[in-house]
Order: sequence, then C-alpha cells, then structure tokens
Amino acid sequence: MQKLICDVIDEHYDELTKLAKDIWDNPEIGWEETKAVAWTAAVLENNGFDVETGAYHMPTAIRAVWGEGKPVVGFCAEYDCLPGLSQQVCSYHNPVVQGGLGHGCGHNLLGAGTLGACIGLKAALEESKLPGTVIFYGCPAEEQLLGKGLMAKNGAFIECDFTLAWHPSTASRDTLGAHTGIEGMEVEFFGTTSHAAGSPQNGRSALDALQLMNIGVEFLREHVTNDVRMHYTITDGGLAPNIVPDHAAAKYFIRALSREACIDTYKRVVKCAEGAAHMTETTVKVTRTGGLYPTLQNHVIGEAIQDARKEIPLSAFTEEELKFADEINRNSPRYVEGETKPLDYEDQHLENRVVYGSTDYGDVEFICPGFQVNECTTASLAPGHSWMVTASVGSSIGMKGMMRAAKILALGAYKIMEDPARLQAAKDEFNESLHGETYVCPIDDSIPWPYKD
Ligand SMILES: [Zn+2]
Repeated sequence: MQKLICDVIDEHYDELTKLAKDIWDNPEIGWEETKAVAWTAAVLENNGFDVETGAYHMPTAIRAVWGEGKPVVGFCAEYDCLPGLSQQVCSYHNPVVQGGLGHGCGHNLLGAGTLGACIGLKAALEESKLPGTVIFYGCPAEEQLLGKGLMAKNGAFIECDFTLAWHPSTASRDTLGAHTGIEGMEVEFFGTTSHAAGSPQNGRSALDALQLMNIGVEFLREHVTNDVRMHYTITDGGLAPNIVPDHAAAKYFIRALSREACIDTYKRVVKCAEGAAHMTETTVKVTRTGGLYPTLQNHVIGEAIQDARKEIPLSAFTEEELKFADEINRNSPRYVEGETKPLDYEDQHLENRVVYGSTDYGDVEFICPGFQVNECTTASLAPGHSWMVTASVGSSIGMKGMMRAAKILALGAYKIMEDPARLQAAKDEFNESLHGETYVCPIDDSIPWPYKD
C-alpha cells in the first residue's frame, strides 16, 4: 500500500504544489481566507470529495467528505498567514510588500499537504475495499487560536474515531510532549485625565493602573508552576507625557500545560488587574478573548506514524536546495560554519519534548484521539514565525517536505484503519488519559464573533 499511496500523491504533485504556491502568493490573514478556501475546495471537488464551504456557520471553514462507514478519520488543514512576514524566495530579508502579510508559519503547505494525504488515503481505501470515511476539515485562523474551538463549538470533530494533523517544521521529528493551552484576555483601565504638571492631583492614571497590574503579574510568576507562561503587550499607553492617561489597554496570553492551570492562572491575573484598579482609583474591564486546550498526543497513533515514516522515502533535496537553506541559516546567531546542517530532514525518534508554543489542534485532541506530525520544510535554523520560514515554504524545499508529509499522514492513517486492534488501543489510551474529564469548549458565548460581517 505504501507504493500506491506514494504514486497517487506524486501523480498530484502539480495540483498540490500549485495550490500551496497560490496560497503562498496570496497570503490571507485568519478569518479572511476566502481565496484559499475556494482553491482548496476546487481541488477537493476535482478529487471526488463532497465539499461544504462555510461549514459550521464559519465562512472560511471547509468540511469535505469521502467514503462510507467506520472508522472515520479527520484531517485538520489550515491556510491562514501572519502579519509582517512578507518575503520573497531569497536568503536575505527582502519582503514582497514592506510590512505585508506572509506565510511565516508555512500554512500554505499545511492545507495543501493535508489535502494530498486525503487523496492518498482515499486511493488506498478504494484499492483495499476497506470501509471508512475520510473527512478534510479546513480550519480558519489557526494563528488567532480559536478557529478549531469555534468549529468544535458548532459540532466539528466529534464524528471522528481519530484525527491527524501535521505542521511544517525545521525537522522531521515528532513529539509525544504537549503544547501549552492558552487563555487570552484584553484589559482596559479607565481613569481621569488631567494636566500632568499643572494639576496632577486631579488625575487618576489608567497607565499607572496598567503598569501596577503588570508588576503584580511579574511577582505572580514566582508562585505558579514551571509550565505557566504569561506575556503581554501594551496596546494603549496614553497619548502624551503631559496628559494623565484616562485610558490604557493591554493584551495578555496565559499559557500552561494543563487546562486547569490556564483557567486558574487567568483568575489570578484578573485579581492583579482588580487590585491595580483599587490602588489607583481607576476602573477596569477584562474581556476574555478566547482559549484553547493543550495538546494530547496519542502514543498509539504516534507509533503508527513512526511505522509509516520508515516506509516513505526521505525528501531528496538537491545541492542547490541545500545551498539555499545554508544561506538562510547564516542569518541565525546559532549558525556554526561547517557544523550546521542545512536541512534537518532525516527522521528522528519519537520524543517527549514539551513544546511551550500552542496550537488550536489541542482542542481536537481532547475530543478524539489525535496526533500532529512535524516534517522538515524549512532551513534548520529558521525561527518559527519568521521571514526565513516564509522564504523556505515558498521554495521547492517546502514543496518536497509537504509531499512527504502527505504520504506519511496517508499511510499512518491507513495503518490504523486496517487494524481494528490498533484503533481500539488508541481509543483506550485516549479515554485513560482524560481521567474521566470531558472536553468543555473554551469558546463560550462571551467570545466576540471573529468575522467582520
Ligand atoms: Zn502554524
């Protein structure tokens, strides 16, 4: 089946790489991915999938289905970009549009590669005559961290026996370790303005309140578990030094490796805000902006993916591609002449490394068993969310990694679908790891509707 899957996916090389390149050439920020959705839906339809765009009442979500009966496997695709990461395919910082949008997280490959996996798996199921349903989920706005939660709120993923996802990466290295979950908030303080020199006694500074809140959070860091991360930006600090600010605002992300720690720390940060308002005789408004679960990587599915990796030939990079990656790596302070590998593309063992970044795929992994795969698509020292990623994933390096990821996902999924005992083991592990808890969608009705209209 390995050969059939590889052949079928390779036959779609032009279609898949065109889709990935078109999305790269037309970067769209989360909730606005209309071109990516239209192009992705067209390729799905061409390949025999029953496609619904605007799924789950979300204009840029897709649900596309092929097959019948159990088991049901879901694949999570993304296609949104990031602000400020516009970049040409070259090895020095050279934006297409100064300050413009760019695929600095490689989601142009993510959606197209996932689609390739669905095409490969469909062919394998047709050939073997095994029953099963393949669902492609086009998931909006991953970078804004509540796309999949909102889909889940509207009924997505619960229909699956298991799910798979992948992410473009600096290395072909999968981990069983978790990503952190997040709780997000916006904080606003309201004070009383005054002339900062002439009548400061009449002012009640909203900026003072915000700074005292932030200092409270700095002291809070000592009294949380090691996995907790709290970070903020000040989005409004007043207008001029000689005006006591009557308004100040900040955005916060609170992360931790458990959902409980995220929620608990969020409540303690709110107390810092309330205390600061009390100290400064201002008022405070806290708006929860969203939340997501940590990831819960399934070991049984991870092992199936490792088995699939052994059967899928490594990406064959040319001298020219290795040279391009080496030139990108030279932008990093971590570069060591003669030691830094241009591309870290050889498969590595499944490890237990914790990832302190976050992904909304965590929500999906708490609904049914799942696993996220990493495949080498970028220069080995390209930092996440950087122009170096944008350059790599717009090049043939990214395309080759994407094609391999599609094959690994398709073959890994097939290995689970053809082996009921393996699927049952994945489910048993999932149920045990939940310790009796059930998924509670973090996107409640208080979260503002993210689409513009
Ligand atoms: Zn990403």
